[in-house]
Amino acid sequence: MKKLRPPVLKWMAPAVAAALFLTVSVAADGGVSRAPADSSNTAGLPNLGDGSDMTPADERRLGDRIARELYRDSDYVDDPVLMEYVQTVWQPLLTAARQRGDLPADYDSLYAWEILLNKERTINAFALPGAYLGLNLGLLGVVASRDELASVLAHELSHVTQRHIARMMTRQSQQAPLLLAGMILGVLAAGKNPNAASAVLTGSQALSAQSQLNFTRDMEREADRMGFAVSTQAGFAPQGFVTMFGKLDQASRLNDFGNFPYLRSHPLSTERMADMQNRIELPDVQTPANPSARHNEQEIDHAMMSARARVIANSTVDALRAWSLEVSPTAMARLTPAQKAAAWYGACMAAMKSRDFASAQSHWQHLSDSVRSDAAAARLARLLGVELRLAQDDAAAALALLQADGNAVNASHRVELLYGAQAQLQLASQGGGSAAGANATVKAGLASIRQDLQTRVAEFPHDAQAWQLLSGVYAAQGRTLSSIRAQAEVSVAHYDFEAALRTFKSAQDWARKGLAGTDHFEASIVDTRAREVASTLKEQATEK
Ligand SMILES: [Zn+2]
Repeated sequence: MKKLRPPVLKWMAPAVAAALFLTVSVAADGGVSRAPADSSNTAGLPNLGDGSDMTPADERRLGDRIARELYRDSDYVDDPVLMEYVQTVWQPLLTAARQRGDLPADYDSLYAWEILLNKERTINAFALPGAYLGLNLGLLGVVASRDELASVLAHELSHVTQRHIARMMTRQSQQAPLLLAGMILGVLAAGKNPNAASAVLTGSQALSAQSQLNFTRDMEREADRMGFAVSTQAGFAPQGFVTMFGKLDQASRLNDFGNFPYLRSHPLSTERMADMQNRIELPDVQTPANPSARHNEQEIDHAMMSARARVIANSTVDALRAWSLEVSPTAMARLTPAQKAAAWYGACMAAMKSRDFASAQSHWQHLSDSVRSDAAAARLARLLGVELRLAQDDAAAALALLQADGNAVNASHRVELLYGAQAQLQLASQGGGSAAGANATVKAGLASIRQDLQTRVAEFPHDAQAWQLLSGVYAAQGRTLSSIRAQAEVSVAHYDFEAALRTFKSAQDWARKGLAGTDHFEASIVDTRAREVASTLKEQATEK
């Protein structure tokens, strides 16, 4: 369904959208309180102490509203494979921050800690109120290792744990949250495309907002310092900071601010570089504590995920053609094994997107052969193979590949679960063949994947994609009421409570008609959820 909204909201330049308010707050304050140099516990947290602080709950509500708009944006990417990869970096950082005591329990439980991926090709990452983090695929496409990605995410995480955003917004708290959200979204739009921002902010407003899109230098220094500590504690190599800074340095020398909006919010001073270099030379920087972490640019799975990000971020006809050329024998001759795997991976994806399935299959075979000895990379290759078979409507082959080598579709592996559900739905829509046995297999497959999806959403109620697939599975089973309810939960998962309520109401209408298949237990769940969502909407209305 196409949404009726202007294509305003684009993913922006600011490291922190909320930085719009920074200049005001610092000017008014003259001295934002800061955590001490070695703030490794909650005692180091700033205490604004004026009794009117924006609470974590307020901040989260504000963040939810911004997130709702970002989810609706056409650049939002819900890619389970890339998300899983990003989480392999993000979760250890969160754990380390908790171990260090950087995250007081009340913030921890109220914040979202959620990463939103977007298709933007430019290099950027940014923190939003309520611990949402935006991450451009452009950035994923240029980081050469997990350590580099960790350096950026740890820095943004530290802006959150040090409550840099809340500190700025506290001064603005007389503004209604809705207005604040609108302003932040306006800045996001302005950062993405200065010419198209006028729908929210007028040109000059947008321009002046953008010129203020920076945290204070002290906050940046603090985020560097804390980020470094968190990242090394999480087991990532400190060299990730050095090489990432080197990359930014090179871009800034080339004045490449168009492709590196991150540089506008994070200007790379010699002081920042030197500070980081000193940190790395400190004798107490240990080798990574996490033995399972791997640290070098030869990581094959990293190279493959980086390639995936690049192809998704840029799927123009020309770009897809360029990907195919990268696997020419002359181009391949100079590459390392990781680079080769990335080239095959990218070429396979590009061919698949061009619907040249013969080439895609050939690239995929090369990829699979070349990564056979690396378990993580081999799994990613297998998942790409599943995508390829799904793209060709060959659900049976997709399922066979998912279940190959005893890799049963497993609800604890989100990607396998989601792809398994897609395959089961595809199979069901194809009628499962004429034989009665085939039909029974389809039914059993649906029943089993439904259970797995129900388990998933019970544990992760904000997994919109799982709800979406569950809705499809219910529909395939003829459970219309459940299917509509699951559809409403997709909207809830993306904080779109108005859409959710509309859908819950249509579920109630459906149940009231008492048509065949009305399940009274299900109908009472719908009533309860409709009431809950209505009351959430009411609360929000009073905040306006
Ligand atoms: Zn920063």
